[in-house]
Amino acid sequence: MLQVPSTTAPTVHSLPSYLNADHLGPWGIFLKQVDRVEPYLGNLARWVETLKRPKRILVVDVPIHMDDGTVRHFEGYRVQHNTSRGPGKGGVRFHQDVTLSEVMALSAWMSIKNAAVNVPYGGAKGGIRVDPKTLSRGELERMTRRYTSEIGIIIGPNKDIPAPDVNTNEQIMAWMMDTYSMNQGSTATGVVTGKPVDLGGSLGRREATGRGVFTVGVEAAKHIGLEVSTARVAVQGFGNVGGVAGKLFAEAGARVVAVQDHGGTIYREAGLDVPNLLKHVQATGSVGGFEGAEVISNDKFWEVPCDILIPAALEQQITAANAGRIQARLVIEGANGPTTPEADDILHERNILVLPDVIANAGGVTVSYFEWVQDFSSFFWDEDEINARLVRIMKEAFSAVWQVAQDNKVSLRTATFIVACKRILHTRELRGLYP
Ligand code: GLU
Repeated sequence: MLQVPSTTAPTVHSLPSYLNADHLGPWGIFLKQVDRVEPYLGNLARWVETLKRPKRILVVDVPIHMDDGTVRHFEGYRVQHNTSRGPGKGGVRFHQDVTLSEVMALSAWMSIKNAAVNVPYGGAKGGIRVDPKTLSRGELERMTRRYTSEIGIIIGPNKDIPAPDVNTNEQIMAWMMDTYSMNQGSTATGVVTGKPVDLGGSLGRREATGRGVFTVGVEAAKHIGLEVSTARVAVQGFGNVGGVAGKLFAEAGARVVAVQDHGGTIYREAGLDVPNLLKHVQATGSVGGFEGAEVISNDKFWEVPCDILIPAALEQQITAANAGRIQARLVIEGANGPTTPEADDILHERNILVLPDVIANAGGVTVSYFEWVQDFSSFFWDEDEINARLVRIMKEAFSAVWQVAQDNKVSLRTATFIVACKRILHTRELRGLYP
């Protein structure tokens, strides 16, 4: 037998520096979440190291011609965290604060989310560090196409399927699909989801994340005896996710009392006129300047009297600095990673139920899965069928997670991680280690 001198024994638990838990930021938060779940994984815990290392990280240079004749370079990423259960799946975000740590964490949360709702995908995520508002439409298109070409070596309908995320939309998905298809020599609609409906997109995809937030939010409310039809709701971010969730809660009788976005914070105790607010946001780009509401400071948003709080903007919004002031009984995470671990503990101590991102906002990727299936079969379903299937998957996933939380006396976040990590590591074990 091969003798390995003790000084050179492989230290399988030491991580490369960029994966280190001490490393602050979103990836460090993910590692702490995995540590919390490890004791509940039984025999599967021996595979847990798999989750602490993304399978593949690609950093790309994205040079483009700017309209003024200069050349600018952007930094882009695509991270495939895990592909044990199927192709990588997750969005692409364009934001000036995008970092590798963030994209790594977001890709890992996609692995958890996809396993939690049991769609046959691994987890992936991409991004470009750019403020897209500073680009012309032509620059945005050139940047999207060059980025797609650069990550083209690892994406594909059976490998890794991008989708919209922060600041990316149907048009950007159309350019990504076209670029990939031109490079392949044939149209491959299944390479991205969240496409325009006329280009292989799915009905109901645009509203799916918000609809999922609403669906599981109603389920969670039932369990804590919170009546949705009389609840007061506060929403941060009023785009695709927060806007749709706010609309559905208002239609169910709830009063949307406060909304915050990059244009400021508005409040109305009697409830905002949500249909009109949506029109205003559509026309002006933000809630700023909306008539029929009081303007309050952004910090005051966190202490408005409400029953349900929906952070549906960016990560790390609920922090130790504001978690103690939150009045809601239920927090539904429409955004990815909006609550820091310290804030999570404070909310837990204050008996505020947190419905975590990895289940609450999984409606988007669930309908992405329907889109991908429809693209493969070139047979498209009607919206009622899509919504009915979405609601069924979300309710089933919620009830499994709720049960695990009760059985183990853990938070819904840890329970979702238990369900998801077991599924991922079970497939890991079945597949075995190659070679
Ligand atoms: N970006 C969305 C998310 O974070 C959707 C991802 C997808 O549809 O692949 O879940």
